[in-house]
Amino acid sequence: MPHDHADHDHTHDHSDLDDMTARVMAMEKLLVDKGLVDPAALDAIVETYEEKIGPRNGAKVVARAWTDPDFAAALKDDATTAIATLGFSGRGGEHMMALFNTPDQHNMVVCTLCSCYPWPVLGLPPVWYKSMPYRSRAISEPRAVLAEFGVTLPEGTKIRVWDSTSELRYLVIPMRPEGTEGWTAEQLETLVTRDSMIGTGLAGARP
Ligand code: FE
Repeated sequence: MPHDHADHDHTHDHSDLDDMTARVMAMEKLLVDKGLVDPAALDAIVETYEEKIGPRNGAKVVARAWTDPDFAAALKDDATTAIATLGFSGRGGEHMMALFNTPDQHNMVVCTLCSCYPWPVLGLPPVWYKSMPYRSRAISEPRAVLAEFGVTLPEGTKIRVWDSTSELRYLVIPMRPEGTEGWTAEQLETLVTRDSMIGTGLAGARP
């Protein structure tokens, strides 16, 4: 199933094990077999970029949007430029759109074809984001998927699912948790989880 995502310069079938993954796994096995790397250490590094370092940039964008109405307006108008003013830009973030959650609409992001993800603000995509079940079920039964992530929305809240491509990637701006009036942007950042910026979580909840 070839497709035209511009960041994929080869044709592949989107099976769970594409060319690059197979090559990386072969390389990893070689290094582990030779005793040059510790697989647990590799896992820890990847997890750090998935969950800690990467998403902290996005959290800064969200906290700024919550505390600075001018920035929020700029973010709505042209997310790529607004995010770049905070120093986050580059590959995987060339064309960004910010999706603001409201009581009426919850936004959730998927890449149905592969794993397009806004690297400058979220880092590396989590394994589940790249998995076939998430990619198909996010579209067909988003409410059930959210429930599995521990998110239950009011009946009246519409869920809109956005399909990422290499040309356009999304950052969900979760709703600011109640009871945080007067908090500084730095304090608010701690409430912004990675999943809340993909739309599979809510700010202020545990990931
Ligand atoms: Fe993709």
